[in-house]
Amino acid sequence: TPKPKEEDTSGITQSYDIGEVLGSGNFSTVKIGLHRATGQKYAVKIIEKKKFWLQSGDRKDALMDEVRILKQVKHPNIINIREIFDSPSHLYLILELVTGGELFDRIVKGRFPEPYARKIFRQMLCAVMYLHSEGIVHRDLKPENILYATKDPDSPIKLSDFGVSRMVGEGSFMTTLCGTPEYIAPEIITSAASGYTKAVDLWSMGVILFILLSGYPPFSEESGPLFAQITNAKFSFPDEYWGSVSDDAKDLIRRLMTVDPARRISCEEVLGHPWVRAGEGDGLVFR
Ligand code: ADP
Ligand code: MG
Repeated sequence: TPKPKEEDTSGITQSYDIGEVLGSGNFSTVKIGLHRATGQKYAVKIIEKKKFWLQSGDRKDALMDEVRILKQVKHPNIINIREIFDSPSHLYLILELVTGGELFDRIVKGRFPEPYARKIFRQMLCAVMYLHSEGIVHRDLKPENILYATKDPDSPIKLSDFGVSRMVGEGSFMTTLCGTPEYIAPEIITSAASGYTKAVDLWSMGVILFILLSGYPPFSEESGPLFAQITNAKFSFPDEYWGSVSDDAKDLIRRLMTVDPARRISCEEVLGHPWVRAGEGDGLVFR
């Protein structure tokens, strides 16, 4: 017997046909959505509310403020949010559809040559600087949340999941509690600062750059408890893997993965760093 169809109180099915699953994460399922009026396809991120936040009137207002901000975000290296539907049980984000898969899937096939890592990193920086200028801290930067626009090896990248982590009950903090905190800044672990400060994104960019250039993460459970490694920035550049990587790259990683957020390099300083400047002329517009 077919399952009784759940009633759609969000109104999404009036405009969209929901199709196959594209992927899923800890807090959501992403499906294809066909906008019937235009024939345009989107990615529909379906977030189950009850798991992650209490339904209080206050919380809902805060959520809707957040949603308004997210909808204003427009940048070539950020997944655009077109529309949002809301029901008591679910939140549906209508997102720009990309087809290139996750950065994660390309990096597991092997480390990137420096010039290519630089291209990816500069796009990430461009997107993060834009978000910060809009007063948004991503808070959940990791290779799984960086998507390729197309399957082309030269495809641009797009950040996804920004801000959403914050709406979905303290995103990374949830991950910190129930999974691996590989990309989380030390000040979040030690509660010295909240995740709302921009510096937390720069730490995560350091972890990602480390992975792009080496093919492995700077911190891993094999070398002992993760929290202690992170809060002491206990990573190194063994010659076996890092012998052919430039000193500029290592210097930038050290400056990004600086434990004290007040001493950590800022976005503007990253933009002026020699390793990043070597990629100037790629047409990216920073602000
Ligand atoms: P979560 O916040 O639960 O981790 P994500 O937003 O990261 O969810 O999405 C989970 C997966 O769904 C992604 O890793 C990706 O494979 C797929 N996905 C997410 N957004 C899109 C999109 N805009 N276009 C195509 N696939 C997407
Ligand atoms: Mg994700």
